[in-house]
Amino acid sequence: MSKAYEGPLATKFIGTPSEIYDDKGDFWVVDFPRSITHHHTYGLLTPFFKGLTEGKLMATKCTNPECTENSVWLPPRADCPDCYARTEWVEVPTVGKIYAYTMLDYAGIGIEMETPYWQVDVQIEGVDTIFKGYLKQGKPVTGMPVKAEFRTENPTHTILDVCWVPIEG
Ligand SMILES: [Zn+2]
Repeated sequence: MSKAYEGPLATKFIGTPSEIYDDKGDFWVVDFPRSITHHHTYGLLTPFFKGLTEGKLMATKCTNPECTENSVWLPPRADCPDCYARTEWVEVPTVGKIYAYTMLDYAGIGIEMETPYWQVDVQIEGVDTIFKGYLKQGKPVTGMPVKAEFRTENPTHTILDVCWVPIEG
């Protein structure tokens, strides 16, 4: 092990001076911006996000013969919530029907969407859950046929890589 440096130093401040946000009264409030990079693993759910970049909807199905439900899950579940067995990947249709919808005036943290927008719940044949997303264009109506659109170029690798558009009929 090398010996630590113990000689003279010339130490410089390398930070950024902070602004005073509120200097009214006796207690200062200063701006103290911070940012972090969050390395988030998708773990066993990675095939779902990979599928979005390939224009596919990948769901999971419980194939345990002892399971009472054997459901197909979208968003996927790595393990069956009914019997806790590991699920298997299945590709499901990229078309569906609007089951319910609501207008979003305030998006959640991390949802980089201009508001307002239509959040839609989509019923997909062969899928036992209702898949939540957003309508890229148009006005939703219950039962309206929609098809998925994927952000395969410059993907965000988040759920925002899929949205829905009306099927012109
Ligand atoms: Zn199961």
